[in-house]
This record gives sequence, C-alpha cells and structure tokens, in this order.
Amino acid sequence: MTLPETLLETRSLTAHYGDFQALFGVDFAMEAGETVAIIGANGAGKSTFLRCLTGLHPTPGQQIIFDGQPIAGMAGDRIHKAGLAMVPEGRRLFPSLTVEENLLIGGAGKRPGPWTLAAVYDLFPDLVAKRSNPGTALSGGQQQMVAIGRALMSNPKLLVCDEISLGLAPKIIKDIYQAVPQIRERGTSILVVEQDVGQAMAVADRVFCFMEGRVTLTGTPATLTRDQIAQAYFGMGEVA
Ligand code: ATP
Repeated sequence: MTLPETLLETRSLTAHYGDFQALFGVDFAMEAGETVAIIGANGAGKSTFLRCLTGLHPTPGQQIIFDGQPIAGMAGDRIHKAGLAMVPEGRRLFPSLTVEENLLIGGAGKRPGPWTLAAVYDLFPDLVAKRSNPGTALSGGQQQMVAIGRALMSNPKLLVCDEISLGLAPKIIKDIYQAVPQIRERGTSILVVEQDVGQAMAVADRVFCFMEGRVTLTGTPATLTRDQIAQAYFGMGEVA
C-alpha cells in the first residue's frame, strides 16, 4: 500500500499587513490528488493565505512545504516553476492578446505534462471558436475559462483558484466547476477559495473554513453539518 503524498503543508502560518495581523497560525495540509476548498466570510484571510502560498505576500522564515520543498520566502516565479499555479481573483487576462496568445503565455517555460492547447480546448470547448478574439471580448465565464486554461498550460501539480464564482451567473459557475473532474483526471490537484458554501461542498474532497485569520473547521463535506459550518463561518447562527 502506498501512503498518501502530502502535496502542500503550512505550519503555524502567520501574515501581517503592517501592524495588522491577517493570519494567526494556520495549519493546513492537502494530499496529491485532492480537491480542497477554503470557505469563509469576507476578510477571513482566504486571499491572504493564497498570496502567501504563491509568493505574493512575504513569508520569510515560515513553514510552507510544497511537493517536499520549503517554498516560504521564495520568489513567485520559482514557486510557479515548482508547480504551483494561481488563477487570480478577477482573471487578469492580457487585454491586448487573443485567447490563444493568453493561453500560450501560460505555457511559456512550461513543465512537462499533459496540459497543451488541445487539452485546454478539450476542457473548455467554448473557447475554440473564440481563440482569435481578444481575451477582453469574452463573457466573464469565458474569461474565467481562459484564466484557468492559462494556469493549466504551465502543467502545475497544484492549481490554486481564488474566487472562481465571483460575478458569474449560477449556470456559468456550474459549467466551470464541471471541468474539475477532468482536471483531476489529468493529475492536477486543486485548491479553490470559494464563497459559495454549497458549491464548495459539491466540488471538494475536503473543506477548510477560515474565520478572522484562523482555521475554524476542517472535514469532508459528508461529515460536516450545517450548524458546524455556520458556527465556523460566522461564529454563530446558520449559513444561508
Ligand atoms: P474576501 O473574500 O473579501 O477577499 P478574504 O477572506 O480573502 O476576504 P483577505 O483579503 O485575505 O480576506 O483579508 C484578510 C484581512 O486582511 C482583512 O481584514 C483585510 O481587510 C486585510 N487586508 C487584506 N489586504 C490588505 C492590505 N493590502 N492591506 C491591509 N489590510 C489588508
């Protein structure tokens, strides 16, 4: 029997913005092959946590282990080369470039692996007819697909997505999340920040809830009750 391989781990991770402390000792771990969702209210520290992982927020001297390697304090491009790719909140496509050029930029200096232009078009067939259009001429949902495809083009071991659902209609969100099983089948693990608790529960193997810079709950969707989630999310009451 092979033991599960820890892909990403943080130990007692802290983060500050000046005097303000945004994360208070976050212990986190996920295994290779898992899809993990981080949920939590506005300001809970979810984006800060992702920024720490991807080198956008300074974490010198801290413990972040990715794929067996300490990455805290590393520059973002080295973390990316190590196989951790981020789909940023707001998509941030290059406005003057076409869909295909945006995807190809994601693949520049890529690691070996299954993600190619053809594989991305297979994942998101809506993009095929749009390949020569500027990224900004697309709908919000299609832009999100390009942003995900661009990150996949680097053949990451871990795809980190910040708020995929933001500003999108429920039908479009469903379409995008339908791609998750196919992404996993190709061996890419997924960490998503998701404000929509129902969506997070539907897609994730495991969920972490953040509140005020701390992990307040973790477990599998099947084992967590609505009351537990509401308590961990808001501190009280029931989640909508
Ligand atoms: P949201 O869903 O609203 O993005 P979040 O859970 O991602 O929320 P963060 O954006 O990580 O939360 O914010 C955590 C805390 O850090 C909040 O109190 C926020 O106001 C604060 N914060 C975030 N960015 C900065 C910054 N650049 N300067 C100062 N404080 C910040």
